[in-house]
Amino acid sequence: MVCRDHAIRYGRREFAPLKGGHGKPPRRYRGATGPVSRYSIFSLARNALDYHRGWQKVWRSPDPKPEYDVVIVGAGGHGLATAYYLAKEHGITNVAVVEKGWLGGGNTGRNTTIVRANYLQDASTGVYGHALKLWETLSQELNYNVMFSPRGLLHMAHTEHDLKEIARRHVANRLLGIDLEFLNPRQVKTFCPIVNISPNARYPVLGASLQRNAGVARHDAVAWGYARGADARGVDIVQNCEVTGFRIEGGRMQGVDTSRGTIKAKKVAVVTAGHSSVLAAMAGLRLPIESHPLQALVSEPLKPIMNTVLMSNTVHVYVSQSDKGELVIGASADLFYSYAQRGSIMVIEEQMESLVDMFPIFSRLRMMRKWGGIVDICPDASPIIAKMPIEGLYFNCGWGTGGFKAIPGSGHVFAHTIANDAPHPLNAAFTLERFSSGNLIDENLAAAVAH
Ligand SMILES: Cc1cc2nc3c(=O)[nH]c(=O)nc-3n(C[C@H](O)[C@H](O)[C@H](O)COP(=O)(O)OP(=O)(O)OC[C@H]3O[C@@H](n4cnc5c(N)ncnc54)[C@H](O)[C@@H]3O)c2cc1C
Repeated sequence: MVCRDHAIRYGRREFAPLKGGHGKPPRRYRGATGPVSRYSIFSLARNALDYHRGWQKVWRSPDPKPEYDVVIVGAGGHGLATAYYLAKEHGITNVAVVEKGWLGGGNTGRNTTIVRANYLQDASTGVYGHALKLWETLSQELNYNVMFSPRGLLHMAHTEHDLKEIARRHVANRLLGIDLEFLNPRQVKTFCPIVNISPNARYPVLGASLQRNAGVARHDAVAWGYARGADARGVDIVQNCEVTGFRIEGGRMQGVDTSRGTIKAKKVAVVTAGHSSVLAAMAGLRLPIESHPLQALVSEPLKPIMNTVLMSNTVHVYVSQSDKGELVIGASADLFYSYAQRGSIMVIEEQMESLVDMFPIFSRLRMMRKWGGIVDICPDASPIIAKMPIEGLYFNCGWGTGGFKAIPGSGHVFAHTIANDAPHPLNAAFTLERFSSGNLIDENLAAAVAH
């Protein structure tokens, strides 16, 4: 009964189309600088006639105004999606997104792009399931190809404990309408023929959980698509503008100090993955967050060889193949805290051992480049999407190693929270107070290494 109620509150009923006909964007809408032309085969042909000299800028680069209704700090996917839905769903367009670097240059542009919804707790399934539903039509919604590719995702089991954890999660997910299948080792081999299922492997494959509608998307395109959509609706995206402090009077938000001057705003929303604690400290708050480096790497390009996403918590590796042919390979976060955007070599060593163990065929593959980001992790491995104790201050943070997949759903519910000064039913549980009340949303098993 509890689960059925949750299914209604967090589940399929909440996955209703967005206002304005989700998936059917207006043919031509008015941006802040005039009509924004839609991308289509016709606009491509039209611009080809002019040697592609006539394309509009995808977004403007305005100077910040002295005052806005809402200032969003951080132009990653979550901040930009929030701005887009504030404008589109709530008609709040006097909004600035201020970014200390370039938009999409944080974790949104550094992640391994895995999109799935198979978390354990009802509240998580609600928000990740909502996001997954939005992913399905996001390219049409934004009129921007985010290259969402639901190619299926295998979550491997190598131990008795993994099998039990997967079985428990299957039951929980199915009750909320997320379809998962269990594959035995032979079926795993049929689905992804290059996996080593030999019983002699260091960690033999005992089975896998398959979510068929999970997959990957193009990370930069998500940031660019939301930026274009928000800009077209009048949102100012101000890059190279670092927030250095908050103006708070009588417990109420009044604005932000930035490297480009003070900007007044009665509502300020902070979405600065990797630096949430730094921003919170500026407002005199302490968050239950630890910041760790998380790295990933890509191989030289290969011909199509891997048709799915595969992840293993036990051997600490996950891998998919990008459209360019590179293998995109990730592992766990570094154990130490750091704000250096690079990971340590021992994680890569372990990751490569695991990769070769699972895929002997990759043993002579050369790696092309690696990079890192900083991930903010809450003790229960779930995010905070909530109002803060200061009136007019909102935080969306703590997505840890897995917030890319949540971008559309998170932006949608966070915009609702800011516009109504009250949470959407899907983020009502993701409060800061849960760390004092004990109502934690423990996703340490479902999040763990695997995104
Ligand atoms: C290597 C790696 C692999 C990952 N793989 C996956 C995956 O496969 N699937 C998945 O779902 N998730 C994954 N993640 C996690 C995911 O990338 C993040 O959860 C998500 O991108 C967070 O988005 P965001 O918009 O909150 O943050 P960001 O994209 O980091 O944006 C925050 C922005 O805030 C800006 N900022 C910070 N401080 C200030 C300031 N003082 N003033 C102004 N601006 C500021 C930053 O410059 C940044 O651009 C991965 C992360 C990493 C690092």
